[in-house]
Amino acid sequence: MTVAPPASAVPDQHTFRTVMGVFATGVAVITTEVEGAPQGMTINSLTSLSVAPPMLLACLEEGSRTAEAVTRRGAFVINLLTRGQTPLSDRFSRLGQDHFEGLAVDRTDSGLPALPGSGGRIECEVDAVHPGGDHVIVVGRVLACTAAPTSPLVFYRGRYHRLGSAGHDVALSG
Ligand SMILES: Cc1cc2nc3c(=O)[nH]c(=O)nc-3n(C[C@H](O)[C@H](O)[C@H](O)COP(=O)(O)OP(=O)(O)OC[C@H]3O[C@@H](n4cnc5c(N)ncnc54)[C@H](O)[C@@H]3O)c2cc1C
Repeated sequence: MTVAPPASAVPDQHTFRTVMGVFATGVAVITTEVEGAPQGMTINSLTSLSVAPPMLLACLEEGSRTAEAVTRRGAFVINLLTRGQTPLSDRFSRLGQDHFEGLAVDRTDSGLPALPGSGGRIECEVDAVHPGGDHVIVVGRVLACTAAPTSPLVFYRGRYHRLGSAGHDVALSG
């Protein structure tokens, strides 16, 4: 049996955002296109989901233009941003604006818009879209992916950062 905590124990939005902000993430831009109109947004809710088959997930605000476009197109591109791409992250997070205005884009083999110069590109088709509070959880099957050995853009406590050290080697099995 599970017992719901008293209402007063549920953190408010500010507290929850502050706590999650301590979890450092990379930054990506998800892009797609519907009927000739490109859409995309900056995200950091990107997570690897499955290795075999390769799958990932991202959480997009329900009702946002990008969530609607990804669902309609059934396919999208994840562009992994590098340390020098803060302006792209800013551009793709501006509310209600045309994020592609005046921007040159690449095209994937299937014709989706992608951002030149990103540190990695992952092309997916939508496997499922699940409800998740005020967001939707988009699960993607990975069709193709590439990465360049560049330094990533990092988001931590509401600010952009760059990796400051060479890091430590970690043994990965498999
Ligand atoms: C580092 C970082 C990480 C982020 N990660 C995520 C993430 O993982 N998932 C996610 O969903 N978002 C994330 N965001 C926010 C997201 O990038 C922005 O909300 C983006 O603008 C959404 O683009 P859109 O065109 O799809 O949304 P829009 O359709 O523009 O709508 C986004 C929200 O803005 C509101 N809005 C639209 N126009 C205006 C306006 N003129 N004034 C005020 N509000 C308006 C809409 O009602 C909606 O709530 C992140 C932002 C940053 C900087």
